[in-house]
Amino acid sequence: ATSFSGKRVALFGLGGSGVATARALIEGGADVVGWDDNPGSVTKAQAEGIGTADLRAEDWGNFASLVLSPGVPLTHPKPHWTVELARGSGVEIIGDVELFVRERTRQAPTAPFIAITGTNGKSTTTALAAHILKSAGRDAQMGGNIGRAVMTLDPLAPDRNYVVECSSYQIDLAPSINPTAGILLNLTPDHLDRHGTMQHYALIKERLVAGSETAIIGVDDSWCAQIADRLERAGKPVVRISKRLPLADGYFADGSNLMEAIDGRYSRIAFLEGIGSLRGQHNAQNALAAVAACLKVGLELGEIQSGLESFPGLAHRMEQVGRKDHILFVNDSKATNADAAAPALSSFARIYWIAGGLPKEGGIEPLRGFFPRVAKAYLIGEAAPVFAATLGEAASYEIAGTLAAAVEHAAADAAGDACGEAVVLLSPACASFDQFKNFEVRGEAFRQAVNAIEGVKPIKG
Ligand code: ADP
Repeated sequence: ATSFSGKRVALFGLGGSGVATARALIEGGADVVGWDDNPGSVTKAQAEGIGTADLRAEDWGNFASLVLSPGVPLTHPKPHWTVELARGSGVEIIGDVELFVRERTRQAPTAPFIAITGTNGKSTTTALAAHILKSAGRDAQMGGNIGRAVMTLDPLAPDRNYVVECSSYQIDLAPSINPTAGILLNLTPDHLDRHGTMQHYALIKERLVAGSETAIIGVDDSWCAQIADRLERAGKPVVRISKRLPLADGYFADGSNLMEAIDGRYSRIAFLEGIGSLRGQHNAQNALAAVAACLKVGLELGEIQSGLESFPGLAHRMEQVGRKDHILFVNDSKATNADAAAPALSSFARIYWIAGGLPKEGGIEPLRGFFPRVAKAYLIGEAAPVFAATLGEAASYEIAGTLAAAVEHAAADAAGDACGEAVVLLSPACASFDQFKNFEVRGEAFRQAVNAIEGVKPIKG
């Protein structure tokens, strides 16, 4: 039995995670009424034994909750019709993370639960924390906004560890979220289309740490720094992390050294230099957060250190895919805007930069400070002429057109570079949709083009 047993629950969105959620609710004794705007999904769900009905025709007074699948708009561009119906009848609106949280609270309240949010670095930090736990022998389940939907993870047990990446949307639909360790990495203006104002966006993200036993907060931006102060004043245990400033208490990076500070006494807990998958100062922030969370759930320092060292990294995020002599090939296809491309550009000195695709507002103007590191740029896709105009005299460039041509030309030019490590970097600062299905397909195309170059040794992730 679950907290939903005997209750009537409306569920909208019958894709993969919606069906998994419906099944879990039914197994827990709920009476589920599912629906989807796509008739094909409704038919499929019926075939799986899920009760369906057009929710417009139902009596909403009988529903205990509306469970929404990811992607069903709460507000933007306007609330989904189910949201309006539920609100009109005073029915609570929740998501799958809330279901997970309620069941954990009932069945296994001591099962270690790490939840991660922030504008950037969520997936990396989630994957890293899960990897460290697994390499220390823990039964670690990873999901949420990355990988598996939370309701498809292995069933709750007191010694099972859960590492869950949460988007703002998921937090918004998880009012009881109560992780053992809650991580808020950073807050920069993003996704404002969906959340209206920065205040509102920050408020949602704050809920994840406000609900946690220990709040782990990156204090390098003013939004997060204020949240840390506010929670601490309210009596919440707060662990601060910084990728650049020494802290008297907390975890910070001094260059490549990850440091622990307790009452102004410092000790080094790890050295990131040489861990290729955690290159760059942004990854110091991710690593510090993962370290702090793993300590909170009871790992020993030694276990954490070896987990950091063996982390393979995530595909398409500053992923080292190959090497040939002094040339390193790096796939950062996930960098779909200028902000996301900045960490890669700041991590290397001699860059043969492949950029372009479907341009975003502002283009590469915010990256101007990195242009001196660009030995040459190879511009692809629709953005090429705009990016060329921005580069102007500041860096040499060519309009390569396609990714294949860009890789070939960049590799040939980098081969003649006599200044030490040369990096052929795909960090497009653009969406991929003009030439590729998504950023993953673009990243795989890069990997293939690199591996096709004679003499390249692949780096296995
Ligand atoms: P998310 O899941 O939040 O989108 P990822 O871990 O997938 O974040 O990283 C996506 C990109 O964001 C990376 O390629 C990198 O360019 C950038 N990034 C990663 N971590 C950070 C961080 N802590 N701060 C700023 N940018 C970051």
